[in-house]
Amino acid sequence: MAPDGRFALHGDLLDFVSTPAWGSVDTPAVRFRPDHWLLVDGGRIAGVAAEAPGEGWPRVEHGGRLVLPGFVDSHVHSPQIDVIASYGTELLDWLTTHTFPAEVRHREAAHAEPSAAHFLDALVAHGTTAAVVVPTVHATSVDALFAAAETRGMRIIAGKVLMDRNAPADLVDSVESAERETRELKGRWHGRGRGAYAMTVRFAPTSTPAQLAMAGRFCRDDPSLYMQTHLAENRAEVAWVKELFPEARSYLDVYARAGLLHAKSVFAHGIWLDDADRAALAEAGAQIAHSPSSNLFLGSGLFGWRAALDAGVHVSLASDVGGGTSLSMLRNMADAYKIQALAGERLTAWRALHAATRGAAEALGLGAEIGTLEAGSVADVCVWDEAVGSVATRRAEVARSLHERMFAWMTLADERNLVQAFVAGRLRFERDD
Ligand SMILES: [Zn+2]
Repeated sequence: MAPDGRFALHGDLLDFVSTPAWGSVDTPAVRFRPDHWLLVDGGRIAGVAAEAPGEGWPRVEHGGRLVLPGFVDSHVHSPQIDVIASYGTELLDWLTTHTFPAEVRHREAAHAEPSAAHFLDALVAHGTTAAVVVPTVHATSVDALFAAAETRGMRIIAGKVLMDRNAPADLVDSVESAERETRELKGRWHGRGRGAYAMTVRFAPTSTPAQLAMAGRFCRDDPSLYMQTHLAENRAEVAWVKELFPEARSYLDVYARAGLLHAKSVFAHGIWLDDADRAALAEAGAQIAHSPSSNLFLGSGLFGWRAALDAGVHVSLASDVGGGTSLSMLRNMADAYKIQALAGERLTAWRALHAATRGAAEALGLGAEIGTLEAGSVADVCVWDEAVGSVATRRAEVARSLHERMFAWMTLADERNLVQAFVAGRLRFERDD
């Protein structure tokens, strides 16, 4: 690689030029360019060439390997790496038993800073180069995360968790302190480098109506702000929200009434919704961050992707670690397929891969920056082995179509298949072989 970050990456280039139709394995939305060269210059994708470029382009040789845009994880909790794979609870117990104790430690910079660095390095080592991240209620955790992302040149959307009731005293803020800290953090990080600020409501039960209204005012005053929260993940949670907010028509309506339902809203889960909710999400242009491994692990429910699609709701894919059991978007795709199979639907590899690349990028309003191998995009790019181990290798050998190969890859691969990951054209992960 040249010192100025100019290089040509050789491999089998795969991305999407549009949204693949549901259930269609043969689709013009897929752009597969085997044996091509991806030209990277100054941190951006400069173009693609069918022939090896000239001497001005140092070559990075990955012939026979897959080259994809880095994955986008639309919902993941940075402090929860420490509680991934924790036994025996559903959502509400899981929060009090495992999650809240882990989050308390992030009040201290001495804990939050190395933890944020570890989290982001782990994301990249799983092939995820951009993410919508939930840190903790503490400003230290937000500063640590954005600072570590800036060092790595990563596209991160995050914000201080808002939580002024129904949580341990060490994790509770107030409307006033939350407003002050949010203003400071937003001033420090929103639009700085590749960082963007998200109003981060943990979920309706842990914020008072006054705090939700405060968050809504931020969104109204600055439409460039994102909003992230949880929505209708689990039935006990939905019942609790109904008790706490009897005036709202539905769980989603709690957020809508507070001004938190808009085109930059990212709602994790969205399992227990009705048609009116889906119509409202679609009309707002908001997205659901579908979190398959988390939904299975916590026994939360089976996401109705097809119903969301039919209503016109954007759906992106998320790991939701630590409720989710892997940062690998591939493992989450494999789980997403199984959830749809239980509903009698078929999730194609194309639709799954799209939801973790171009689809997520577009839903976040970042389609010109990430999610494709289009010239002009930031060079967030990953190189993958199609097969690791004898079973996957054999499966790839006997596959007859591109979809069959990519579906086997999506089902069998994980982070061990990742060979290199580039963030803004810089090598940030390389597998030890
Ligand atoms: Zn979550």
